[in-house]
Amino acid sequence: MDKQHEDSEENKARPGILLDSDEKSSPHHRHLHHRHSLGYPLPSLVELHIHLDGSFRHSTLFELAQKKGLQLPNGMEPTMENFLPYICVQSVCKSLAEFLEKFPFFIPMVAGNVEALERVAYEFVEDQAIQGVLYTEARYSPHGLTADKLKAQDVIEAINRGLQRGMKEFFIDVRTILCCIRSHPQWSMEIVNLADKYRSAGVVGIDLAGDEHNYPLDPHIPAFKRAVELGIHRTVHAGETGSPESVRQAIELCHAERIGHGYAIIEDPSVYDLIRRKDIHLECCLTSSIQTNAVAKYIPKDSEKQEKHIMLHGHETTTTLHYHIKSRKEVWHPIHHFARDGLNFSLSCDDPSVSQITIEHEYQHALADLKLSPAQLTQCVFNAARSTFLNDNEKQLLIQRLLAKYIPKEIMTDHFHDNMISNTPFTKNT
Ligand SMILES: [Zn+2]
Repeated sequence: MDKQHEDSEENKARPGILLDSDEKSSPHHRHLHHRHSLGYPLPSLVELHIHLDGSFRHSTLFELAQKKGLQLPNGMEPTMENFLPYICVQSVCKSLAEFLEKFPFFIPMVAGNVEALERVAYEFVEDQAIQGVLYTEARYSPHGLTADKLKAQDVIEAINRGLQRGMKEFFIDVRTILCCIRSHPQWSMEIVNLADKYRSAGVVGIDLAGDEHNYPLDPHIPAFKRAVELGIHRTVHAGETGSPESVRQAIELCHAERIGHGYAIIEDPSVYDLIRRKDIHLECCLTSSIQTNAVAKYIPKDSEKQEKHIMLHGHETTTTLHYHIKSRKEVWHPIHHFARDGLNFSLSCDDPSVSQITIEHEYQHALADLKLSPAQLTQCVFNAARSTFLNDNEKQLLIQRLLAKYIPKEIMTDHFHDNMISNTPFTKNT
């Protein structure tokens, strides 16, 4: 981050927790413990790869759809039960493209409507707070939410209003990442300019999202170079359904500091080594990697195929998930290898309302099915914290807050604390 911009961002009063040490003063924070239905204390998590436009509440979408006179295909009765298959994944998709087909159905319920945009942003903050997410970076494409009625900046301002209101009320910190879209390079330079303009309103970076098979990143390179000049942070979706080369290009040509997904690096030791050497953060999304079939090509031939319902808060969702993640001999998912090798990765939901998951589900899934150890899961949280796009001051405050939640104060030493801040893993990977 360029020093001039960093200094100007420091000590700006934002409504979350990072610059306010009096967390216990919030009655809403206590209230959240009652809303959390799992019956144990809230975890303290950091989530970096979550699409705001894939996180709308089903009930809100249904309500907004009804206001617009919801009609389902083939004259189907417009009930919530019949509506869900159009907005959520029910099982494994054939491809990422099939997963993404849900979006054109429900985005119009929210797009172009400033009240709806503000509402879903506010609800997003509440939903993250209920799950014990202390800090999150929500990403979205402003252009994808204009519906040709609003300007991209109107979308950003509406979303910022909802996020600010949510942060004040639910006492967590949310920042935003604006997405460039592979198929629309004409938007990318404007995204960089908007990220610059709204930097003081919580925009911390840019992303490149969309179909990496059919749309190369070349036309987006000038925008990402400009982002570097302006000190705007960068993440790129790469190596999800694409190749390891796509990850290398994201790092070398778009100067990506983080990679969305990146599973394909498992195919190329030189890219795997590049990620490790540069300590590039991998934003991994376990359920989405299976639902989109992104990791199917790595399945060993002798793997067991099983299907189970995704459980949320003790209730079955309508989504079933093939979780052939175990061969007869070993657990094989790329994330399992990332953990074993101590790569800098974390867990996120990607599109939780489309996948019907929560961040807790992702941690449970990684523990039960990928056999990650509790220490590795804890490492994920701290990997995420040290890889946020916050400025150094805020990042240190976040890490301190997490340390206070995870490590008893009595055993904390200055040496231990300093090591954590300087990116040294504090748990050994097994
Ligand atoms: Zn994503």
